[in-house]
Amino acid sequence: MPSIAQVEPMTTARALRGPFDYRLPEELRGGAVDVGSMLVVPFGRREVLGVVVGLADSSDVAAGKLLAPLRALELGVPAEMVALAGWIAEEYCSTLARALTLVLPPGATRRLSGRRRRDVAPARQLPVGARAPQPHALNADQEAALASVRAALATGEVHERLLHGVTGSGKTEVYLRAAEAALSHGRGVIVLVPEIALTPQTVGRFVERFGDTVAVLHSQLRGAARYAEWRRLREGRARICVGPRSAVFAPIEHVGLIVIDEEHESSYKHEGDPRYDARDVAAERARRSDAVLLIGSATPRAESARLPASRLPRRVDGRPLPPVDVLDMRGEDHGLHPRTAQALADVRDARGKAIVLLNRRGWSNFLSCRSCGLVWSCPHCDVALVLHRGGGFVACHHCGHREPAPERCRECGSISVARHGAGTERLQHELTSVLDSGDFPIFRLDADVTAAVAAGAGERNGRRPASTGASDPDGVAGALLRAFEGAESGVLIGTQMVAKGHDFPDVTLGVVLDADATLRFPDFRAEERTFSLIAQLAGRVGRGRDGRVLAQTIAPQARAIAHAARHDSDGFLAGELERRRALDYPPFSHLIRVICSAEESTRARDAATAIRGLLALAPPADGAGSVLGPASLFRLRGRERESLVVKAAHRRPAVRAVGEAVSRVAAAREHQGVHFSVDVDPQ
Ligand SMILES: [Zn+2]
Ligand SMILES: [Zn+2]
Repeated sequence: MPSIAQVEPMTTARALRGPFDYRLPEELRGGAVDVGSMLVVPFGRREVLGVVVGLADSSDVAAGKLLAPLRALELGVPAEMVALAGWIAEEYCSTLARALTLVLPPGATRRLSGRRRRDVAPARQLPVGARAPQPHALNADQEAALASVRAALATGEVHERLLHGVTGSGKTEVYLRAAEAALSHGRGVIVLVPEIALTPQTVGRFVERFGDTVAVLHSQLRGAARYAEWRRLREGRARICVGPRSAVFAPIEHVGLIVIDEEHESSYKHEGDPRYDARDVAAERARRSDAVLLIGSATPRAESARLPASRLPRRVDGRPLPPVDVLDMRGEDHGLHPRTAQALADVRDARGKAIVLLNRRGWSNFLSCRSCGLVWSCPHCDVALVLHRGGGFVACHHCGHREPAPERCRECGSISVARHGAGTERLQHELTSVLDSGDFPIFRLDADVTAAVAAGAGERNGRRPASTGASDPDGVAGALLRAFEGAESGVLIGTQMVAKGHDFPDVTLGVVLDADATLRFPDFRAEERTFSLIAQLAGRVGRGRDGRVLAQTIAPQARAIAHAARHDSDGFLAGELERRRALDYPPFSHLIRVICSAEESTRARDAATAIRGLLALAPPADGAGSVLGPASLFRLRGRERESLVVKAAHRRPAVRAVGEAVSRVAAAREHQGVHFSVDVDPQ
């Protein structure tokens, strides 16, 4: 009977790597403690939470020196989740302790008491747009897609499948039936959605179809309510978990199906350490559980094109996808093309609804002095400050720095301050006057609106963390979408949040302003993002009646825009794969990005150069890697940054080589004070 527990203490210090051996007292032997159990252990002078990662009969530590855990907490995590955390730590160049925090119950690391908690009934509110759950008959395409999932579930084989279906083609119904099939085989189900508030219909339909068998992990759920949902899953009272990326760690045993809806969404990538990608974690978890992985999108990523695919080429209502007109904005000096203005006026006159997408927050992107040319920029980052006129401030969208909107130039005193570019705030203002709206409301959905409502008056020092849009409190966005849905007519304007998976049947016009804006990002995924943004917005239009889409751009010939205008995702994907192959980008290679940051640029560069040197000496075995950089990134939060990008054919050895090189440089005295981040598969 194992008497030794190998325990990983939950500390974030990279230097302290477990596991450490503890002696199990009699009462904790014989099954009371297992892999995945949570123990409170003495650690140095502290008591820390630890996770049992192994059991043994003996230890290398002398018996007299072995300490015993102080107590065991009542409910640990399934053993398979400990193994998955180990995989994440290696795959994403992190530590086991950090990876374990992902799989522990909500709040576990803050709560060492271990006392019994009251069960709290989770607040369950039916999300916006939930409709009567009429399981209508599947069409032939849906049947075929479902048949392949059923077959794999019946044989219990690992199976990965792409559900490539146009918007409105009934992917959710396939997910629901696939979930039913998994449950009937006694298997659990995980359904990942990009953001709960922005994909309300999917969540609502699962809840309506399966009732209490579903646990929904909203980001709105806090504390005890969140733990209660986790516990229902852990104890098997709920067998389906629906949630954003962290739901991939749901403590469900015998998972038989993992669905990733809207798989092209970048919110599946986690930006903190470990920088995991929930799509890859889901695939790994499915492999380990002999489960089916079903990933759905109208605009799948190049990375997903390798999978066997089921096609849903038609909308279930039989309506065609809306025609997309590309409007050339070269030579236009107004923000709105005359045809766009006319189309919006037509919608107003017909008492209809429209969605307008402009992927930029605020009033103006930057301010400059007309006399001396000064540009208002962030004191901590090398970026221009964005004017938020309603709030009366300019803000850095990277670090959250704010200062009052300037009335005059601080250099030359001129009061002539030019405002360049337009964001959603200004667009809302302009549309209100152009459309003379009155009873034609203009709703705005972006991270500013949701953050402002959520923060209320409680902001401190006028500072607020830079918003990524992903941290949006679900309730605010949900309420806004509900208001738009309930309105008789109106316009919804906003950033990419308005192009997500919601479904309003009465929207007849979609407009994308500055459609090429995302193309200008220095990122190999820029084209894919642009294509997907336009195609996804088009997908929100004409669900219940005929509609059309206008895309304003100064790059009407751009491949991404031209393909999106034709709803040609196959053509776009084929070209994209060809381009990626030629440039040796994913999925034909793996990228690992290392960022070194320091207050002085020379120190950041020296550290990056040292890492590069080590990688040249010890190239990842068989990795055939190439190293790009160091290249300077813009200064962020007061730190100069240098980046290296490793392109490798083989991921594991490359990750290991990079991890070792970074550890060695980080440990060297001459690089003290330099911060390092390693991002495998940067997005
Ligand atoms: Zn000036
Ligand atoms: Zn800044």
